[in-house]
Amino acid sequence: MEQCLVLGGGLSGRAAVRLARRIGLEPVMISDGPEVDAGQAVAGYPLIVASPGVKPLSSPLYRAAMRRVEAGEAELISELEFGYRALPAPRRLLAVTGTNGKTTTTELTCHLLQALGVKAVPAGNIGLPLSDIACDMLEGRLGPETLPVVEVSSFQLERIRDFAPVAAVLLNLESDHIDRYAGGLAEYKLVKFRIFQSVPAENQLFGLSMTLPVGRRVTVEGHELLVDGKPLVDLTETRLDAPHNRENLAAAVELVLRVVPAGQLFAPEFTRAVETFAPGRHRLETVAVRHGITFINDSKATNPASVIAALNSLPDPGSPNIVILLGGLDKGMDFSSLASQAHRIKFAALFGECRARIAAAIGDAFPAADCGCDFRLAFDTALKNAVPGDIMLLSPACASMDMFKDYKERGDRFTELARAGSGSTGR
Ligand code: ADP
Repeated sequence: MEQCLVLGGGLSGRAAVRLARRIGLEPVMISDGPEVDAGQAVAGYPLIVASPGVKPLSSPLYRAAMRRVEAGEAELISELEFGYRALPAPRRLLAVTGTNGKTTTTELTCHLLQALGVKAVPAGNIGLPLSDIACDMLEGRLGPETLPVVEVSSFQLERIRDFAPVAAVLLNLESDHIDRYAGGLAEYKLVKFRIFQSVPAENQLFGLSMTLPVGRRVTVEGHELLVDGKPLVDLTETRLDAPHNRENLAAAVELVLRVVPAGQLFAPEFTRAVETFAPGRHRLETVAVRHGITFINDSKATNPASVIAALNSLPDPGSPNIVILLGGLDKGMDFSSLASQAHRIKFAALFGECRARIAAAIGDAFPAADCGCDFRLAFDTALKNAVPGDIMLLSPACASMDMFKDYKERGDRFTELARAGSGSTGR
């Protein structure tokens, strides 16, 4: 039996192992570690599957695998590509990428398609590796009519070859994951565009904020969403009227149009589906109102652009009323856009690994305090600077893994503190 090597033992790696067994390969799973001789570990395997968490620049196993690829001895593919190749014919799927809004758009696209009777399932970066979906289809747990809607990260796009979605959307491109690429932001952007490498031009779709090479069928005028120029949804009746969620909705509807005739979108069940959708937890989630202060958990905001999206979606009373918690793991991002938010932010509590870089970027645009790597201190310090009518916002602009297991744990901690009545307010 032919062997294949799987790099990384997380969710995606384990899914790749399961799929490899299903398709008759003998998988060996390995992760980087001090006792691992990378060169020896990757030798001999014709096919190597990389989990998204294995980093091209810093993983000895990845680098050793690349040396074998360059010598023409092995093929190195991402878990996404591995899952795609194993999908039963006709291998139909939709794909979503971008710096922000991927999960919301993926969930929304599935929700809308399901309302029209299409058997759409979320897949990929959302926590359901495509290898698992492929396995479930091969084993009959998911029927042949299943249409995966795949959330795709730049990590998965680094090593694709055959991956060919029916249609794909690139929502936006902002500073993120700079530490992963030798070529910085420019390389990150190029990798994102790979999503289109096997997609016909008319099915290459872009977020509303991006300049377009081809026409759009979905547009927004005032508070109305239009399809082919015809009004479809009154956005004020939905939870998607903020600019960033309009972008996500427009993208989701563009994707839906690639698999369903436009006429079906004007049925009442489609409008109802748009109206009933709520973005997931940890995304601009109001978790408490106490002493007249509104506490908003936006822990999923892990880059500066998503923080700007949050600020643009909150009502502007004309003077700064937002105290914000900013900080976390350093991905080498450019934080300078935050300095332009002095008209909204009255105070920032900075915490975590990259607090000094954020402090340097904001300069004296608005007051800020260094709270070390103490989240409780950051919360209490922010609260002391809030008065009734203010908003206390956790929209940290950074990943969480310097201090938390993940963004969910960080958001839950904020929610707990917001509801527990910790600290005292500015009055
Ligand atoms: P992703 O899966 O790309 O991380 P999410 O849908 O989970 O995207 O949202 C991540 C963060 O970005 C949240 O804070 C959310 O409010 C914000 N966000 C969602 N959609 C957009 C968008 N289109 N543009 C900018 N920010 C967005």
